[in-house]
Amino acid sequence: MIFDVENDFWINVEDGFEGNSYWIPTPDDEIDEDEFIGIIELDVSLKPFERICALAHEVGHYFLHVDKKFWMNSSSVIKESLAWYLGYEYFKAMGYKIDQEEYRKEASKCVDAYVRSLSAKKR
Ligand SMILES: [Zn+2]
Repeated sequence: MIFDVENDFWINVEDGFEGNSYWIPTPDDEIDEDEFIGIIELDVSLKPFERICALAHEVGHYFLHVDKKFWMNSSSVIKESLAWYLGYEYFKAMGYKIDQEEYRKEASKCVDAYVRSLSAKKR
């Protein structure tokens, strides 16, 4: 799966050690022909299924990044949810079967945690 992502999109997938997974786009002014568009860091402590979910989600962020002018003014919660959806659809189109129910649970858990972290910040 990582191989597909790296080949399709010119993204580098790396291990992350900060307890979270990230999509890190290369700043626009640093992009040239032989630069990666971005890096996906996958938290090393994730279980295999969580790792697949995280990879799909960060690929989703990549899709949003490519269309960033369209999504620029959308709320971050919408972007989080869409990233989950887009990543799933991508791997489905590539022929991978990710358990939809388990994926949906993982996505809900992460979006819920994200929303909670937002309301915690407001206080
Ligand atoms: Zn996200």
